[in-house]
Amino acid sequence: RLAAKKITTGSRNLDALLGGGIETRMITEFFGEYGSGKTQICHQLAVNVQLPPEQGGLGARAVYIDTEGTFRWERIENMAKRWGLDPDKVMENIYYVRAINSDHQMAIVEELFDLVPKQNIKLVIVDSITSHFRAEYPGRERLAERQQKLNRHLHQLMRLAELYDIAIVITNQVMARPDVVWGDPTQAVGGHVLYHAPGIRVQLRKARGNKRIARIVDAPHLPENETVFVITDQGIMD
Ligand code: ADP
Ligand code: MG
Repeated sequence: RLAAKKITTGSRNLDALLGGGIETRMITEFFGEYGSGKTQICHQLAVNVQLPPEQGGLGARAVYIDTEGTFRWERIENMAKRWGLDPDKVMENIYYVRAINSDHQMAIVEELFDLVPKQNIKLVIVDSITSHFRAEYPGRERLAERQQKLNRHLHQLMRLAELYDIAIVITNQVMARPDVVWGDPTQAVGGHVLYHAPGIRVQLRKARGNKRIARIVDAPHLPENETVFVITDQGIMD
């Protein structure tokens, strides 16, 4: 097995929690309540993958599949300036696609098998992986159908990760419930989507002010630790 490459999150704490950063050949899932920082982390990674390796990047491009319309170029600009990068160049190196439904979302991933190797892409983001599936397959009756389709989607993303040695980052919104035990994936509403698939799951939680808590959930090769990072105008940091 080739050694995985790693992308910095911008936070040393979060990097340490992840064993050095976001890994290639792997799906990393960020799940948590609304406002917990999933989309901000995605923006930051789309910038950071472009950094040279000595600064924690892979000197490569990103694909950003946005299913909720929450992507903001101005956030990319600010995050690029933080590293002294030219914001225009950084924006050119992000392939932004708005997925309008789950079929479109899956079709985009199919097209990536052609695009990724040609365009020096080392990171594919899907923010969020579940929103269209939830909206299109509501209720318990359609749960099996939804899960089957979602599993096919995840399988394609995993193939992409392994075939081209790239990192895949997905997000999943999970409702905050006071009666749910923090950190127990079986109790989270909807659970995280990677529960039965290989990958790293990171649960995010809001704390005081701009602080956020991240916790690794059932990773075979990482300790079940948690850590704190902050979201500022400049991005994700300690
Ligand atoms: P999620 O995707 O998990 O629902 P987000 O990643 O969109 O959550 O996080 C939203 C939060 O990020 C906001 O509540 C705010 O705290 C922080 N945030 C967003 N933009 C900025 C900014 N320009 N400056 C500082 N904090 C910001
Ligand atoms: Mg979001």
